[in-house]
Amino acid sequence: MHIEFDNTFLRELPGDPEAGARVRDVQAAWSRVDPTPVAAPRLLAWSPEAAALLGLGRDDIQAPGTVQVLAGNALLPGMQPWAGNYGGHQFGNWAGQLGDGRAISLGEALGAEGGRWELQLKGAGRTPYSRFADGRAVLRSSVREFLCSEAMHHLGIPTTRALSLVGTGEDVLRDMFYDGHPRAEPGAVVCRMAPSFLRFGSWQLPASRGDTGLLRALTDHVQRHHFPELAERGEAGDAEWFAQVCERTAWTVAGWMRVGFVHGVMNTDNMSILGLTLDYGPYGWIEDYDPDWTPNTTDAQGRRYRFGTQPQVAYWNLARLAQALAPLFTDAAPLEAGLQRFGAAWAAAERDMVARKLGLERCRDADLGLYADLRGLLRAGQVDMTLFFRALGRPGAAATDTTAFADAFYDADARAQVESPLRDWLARYAARLADDALDAGQRSERMRRANPRYVLRNWLAQEAIDRAEQGDPSGIAELLEVVRRPYEDQPGRAHYAQRRPEWARHRAGCSMLSCSS
Ligand code: AMP
Ligand code: MG
Repeated sequence: MHIEFDNTFLRELPGDPEAGARVRDVQAAWSRVDPTPVAAPRLLAWSPEAAALLGLGRDDIQAPGTVQVLAGNALLPGMQPWAGNYGGHQFGNWAGQLGDGRAISLGEALGAEGGRWELQLKGAGRTPYSRFADGRAVLRSSVREFLCSEAMHHLGIPTTRALSLVGTGEDVLRDMFYDGHPRAEPGAVVCRMAPSFLRFGSWQLPASRGDTGLLRALTDHVQRHHFPELAERGEAGDAEWFAQVCERTAWTVAGWMRVGFVHGVMNTDNMSILGLTLDYGPYGWIEDYDPDWTPNTTDAQGRRYRFGTQPQVAYWNLARLAQALAPLFTDAAPLEAGLQRFGAAWAAAERDMVARKLGLERCRDADLGLYADLRGLLRAGQVDMTLFFRALGRPGAAATDTTAFADAFYDADARAQVESPLRDWLARYAARLADDALDAGQRSERMRRANPRYVLRNWLAQEAIDRAEQGDPSGIAELLEVVRRPYEDQPGRAHYAQRRPEWARHRAGCSMLSCSS
């Protein structure tokens, strides 16, 4: 396997004078630390599309030496492993220095089609930022991150990518629900890829320390490599850069709202400066439609990161980023203008989403109300979001009864309750369609490409995890195969498009997840 590296982050930003994993406060952007080797690495899954970005194919990935690199047991020439430093607001509170406690970046690979891909091993051992923890990741969480990164990409939503999933052959001790019952679980390492893993918290930490030099250096670095048209344009360039971060964030969160994705831990250290979906922890997918649902048991009390409030949380996080950037500006006006661009982008993205999900040529003002009313009915009727919208796009579905949606109901009583108002809604919708420029064929095509048939339902991931924990990783590749084409009807794969089975309703990993992974 040959990859060319060019490690601009290490070269352009100040680093920690000390190397190694001794836990410490670091007044710099990164610390050199090597992955800790693992006992018996085994390649469990890999993504052909992610590999192709690096110019790698099956032979490269399956070559015997490759798994050693993907496990952190060996380095390729040009790799210079480091852990990134950052802070963050966790659940609304400033947490100070956090940093990559279990992720180690190996280098910036030059992409086969240009660009750069930072390769990062998650679960690769202790770093200066591991605090009291072990720097490792368990198999179940790693399967979930690996699959969801690629699923999100194939849904067309900006995200970090996943190249590989490697079992370590070592156990990791985890107290899954923080209830004093730790158990030994198989460990794993995911190789993630992104143009950059910098996050809002990367700026917040130097800002909290009054380190304007590092703020400036980070900003110059990210502009130079990721917003080149804005680099070296002074305060106007910085203002436009922040506004574009706001816009990207709005469009990514709108993507989540379109497909029913709940991130679960939108702390500012998990918010990508490139607007990518970042850090797949206790995420989940909406099944019976409930805007108040969060999969994260750690957040069960306040439900800060529930599905319906993700846009507001994104805005709150951007406001924290704006505060961090304030020392780079002579007054607050450009940052306030940037935050307003979030509002404008969100409004545009929401209309785009409504038009696509309902199959309209464009979203008129009244259509926002039509969509809001539908959301209310989906909630009252406990209707499966994915199945409902997919069925709505089928020719003839917008007739006046609900039989086309029979598969999407979880509860007969809830269904009976909304039967009549849903019929009324379908009649309104049919009238609206009669007044739209798209013909039936165009409409169902538009809806087919906006409303996925397959999403990474929590119970599907759990089935693959259960099998993998028993020693059979083939369910991971099968599921990856399905989520590679989420908008296509795939013959013989009805299982993957089913509503949540009863066994999964209260099963840990399906309806409940914690940050402990
Ligand atoms: P997360 O909730 O995964 O975004 O992590 C929050 C912070 O905790 C980050 O600084 C992580 O690097 C750190 N962290 C999470 N799990 C571990 C672990 N097993 N070992 C070391 N650090 C961890
Ligand atoms: Mg994180």
